[in-house]
Order: sequence, then C-alpha cells, then structure tokens
Amino acid sequence: MTMIEKNLQTVQSRLAAACREAGRAGSEVALLAVSKTFGADAVTQAHAAGQSAFGENYIQEAVQKITALRHLGLQWHCIGPIQSNKTRLVAEYFDWVQTVDRLKIAQRLSEQRPGHLPPLQVCIQVNADGGATKSGVLPQEALALAQQVAALPKLRLRGIMSIPEPEPDFAAACAVFASIKAVFDSLNAAGLALDTLSMGMSADLEAAIHCGSTMVRVGTAIFGGRVKIP
Ligand SMILES: *Cc1c(COP(=O)(O)O)cnc(C)c1O
Repeated sequence: MTMIEKNLQTVQSRLAAACREAGRAGSEVALLAVSKTFGADAVTQAHAAGQSAFGENYIQEAVQKITALRHLGLQWHCIGPIQSNKTRLVAEYFDWVQTVDRLKIAQRLSEQRPGHLPPLQVCIQVNADGGATKSGVLPQEALALAQQVAALPKLRLRGIMSIPEPEPDFAAACAVFASIKAVFDSLNAAGLALDTLSMGMSADLEAAIHCGSTMVRVGTAIFGGRVKIP
C-alpha cells in the first residue's frame, strides 16, 4: 500500500468518525484532496486509491496537471485566489471554482466558460473571521454577491467556502465554523438553494463537520507536508 493510499484511508476514517459523532450520514461530506505543489504522480496514486476530486491553488501548475491527467476523468476545483488575467484558464480547465469574491471575476468566468462545457460550479468565498488582508467577502456582503453570481448564465452557484485562521482548540474552531454555517443558512433562507458548505482542512475537519460542513479540503493529511512556495 502506498503512503498516499494509507493516508487517504486514515482521512476517510476521520471523516466517518466525525460524521458519526455529529449524527450525520457519511455521504453528507465530500472529500476534496488538495494536491497543490504535488505532482501528477501523487494525484494518480490518490486516484488509484479511489479519490476523484482534487483542489489546486496555483492556476498554471494546475493546468499542467489537468492536461496531463485528462484520461482519468477527475474533477478539479480551483481553491486559490484568482487574478483577472487568469480567469480564462480557470474557465477553460476547472470544473469548480470555490474562491469567487468579486462580481467582476464571476462575470469574466461566465463569459469565458467555453460553450461546450457544463456550467462552472461556483462557491462564494466568505471571510468569516474578518482578517483585513484575506480574500473573501464579509458575511454581510455574501447575499448580494451570491444573488448576482446566481444570475450569470455559465455559472452554477453551489454554496460558500471559507478559510478561517487556525484556532487553538475544537471549541474555538466551532465558534468560527458555526458563524460560517449561519451565513450558509441565511443564503438558503433567502431562497438560493445551496448544497455546498466548503470548510475544514487537515487540522480542523472534525470541528467543521460538527458544524455542518459538506466538503472538507484536505492536503497535508493525504499528501504529506508541503515545501513552501515563496
Ligand atoms: C492548502 C489548502 C487546503 C489544505 O490545507 P491542509 O492544511 O494541507 O489540509 C485547503 N484549502 C485551501 C484553500 C488551501 O489553500
């Protein structure tokens, strides 16, 4: 068994245990394997172990992997910041974009999505803990942006995602995740019919699942430690 296969099994067990603990069905939480900085070989190993959805932060790096692994039929999520000059690549190569936090970016993605592809699946990124330098809309701005994004023809709004700062313990993490869940619930109460609440990573997926996450994004716990890209 490869290390990646073994790690994936461990993560799947953590997911299952967290769902049991929270009284939720295991099928309610999807696992996104975050493969940034790892090569096509690592992704191929994860695929061989049953993983089909992958998250990438750096567009250029992702396009290379997506192209090299076309034959595997994987699902690719953009989870990194998107500059205007990268929207075309994102629209052409990815299946999902989780980091939409400006209408202008969403409009470009919709305009540039090739006609032969299904709509791009989109999450609004919410800056839940108010970090001034972080990307994401503030919670009180999420509904207005979500309504505008939902109206774009080649995008399909699926939910919200958030990358809160790491918290020291379960209770502190839960407080932040609960506030993100509240944003998600308020958008649904406003009629948006969202099914995806993307929150939780290697270190805090249990707390995220406890608070209603439907998709955890896990890198380190599957692929190992990353060498920092400057
Ligand atoms: C890198 C990254 C992850 C994965 O983080 P790990 O701590 O390695 O699990 C998840 N989400 C986003 C947006 C990331 O950039």
